[in-house]
Amino acid sequence: MERLNKFLAAAGLASRRGADTLIAAGRVKVNGAVVRELGTQLDPAADRVEVDGRPVVPAPQYEYLILHKPPGYLTTVSDPFDRPTVMKLLPHTKTRIYPVGRLDLDTSGLLFFTNDGALALALTHPRHWIEKEYRALVAGVPSAGQLEQLRRGIRLEDGMTAPAKIAIERVENGNAMVRIILREGRKRQVKRMLQAVGHPVRTLQRLRMGPLCLGELQPGQYRPPTPEELAQLL
Ligand code: URA
Repeated sequence: MERLNKFLAAAGLASRRGADTLIAAGRVKVNGAVVRELGTQLDPAADRVEVDGRPVVPAPQYEYLILHKPPGYLTTVSDPFDRPTVMKLLPHTKTRIYPVGRLDLDTSGLLFFTNDGALALALTHPRHWIEKEYRALVAGVPSAGQLEQLRRGIRLEDGMTAPAKIAIERVENGNAMVRIILREGRKRQVKRMLQAVGHPVRTLQRLRMGPLCLGELQPGQYRPPTPEELAQLL
């Protein structure tokens, strides 16, 4: 149940105070009957609300969260074997939020959650070509030729990869730390691409998804997107 003035305010009709004025003036009906009681409660899912004879559609309550997924957590809403899932790292939210895309069990980094199904679909749809940026520690050091191959596209068992950006960040003990930006999102794509050129991935972290950046978020921590990030996303 929800207070009528809160419902009207959330629907964008007025402030809560303004909604009280509408109610007191007899301009609000619930299920066809005028209500003047300021404390009126309603069930937003079942009750019909009208103001000045026009129906009020409740505003969708969208929620968004960015999580720094640590390795060892499954990107799934529930696991039949009760293994740790990313959902266990999230705070309680008003609505149920879902991960947008997946990270492998041993991959860490940015995972975005929302209950906005249309946005989730848009972000994961190949047509939208949203950039995903990763940092991968690989075995050995890819040659200039291999990097060029990865940039142009290589053949995997599910077809050629689209053009990608890739650069070596640094080399430590004979192994390369690589930055790679993909616009596709196939299963285990970064690992399969690097494996295909003979440099298997040892560790993988997602740093960015479109305008959303991992930044200083520590493993297991979460934050809402900033208004700027959200504005670029929507
Ligand atoms: N590519 C992979 O190989 N694994 C991930 O988790 C994400 C992208």
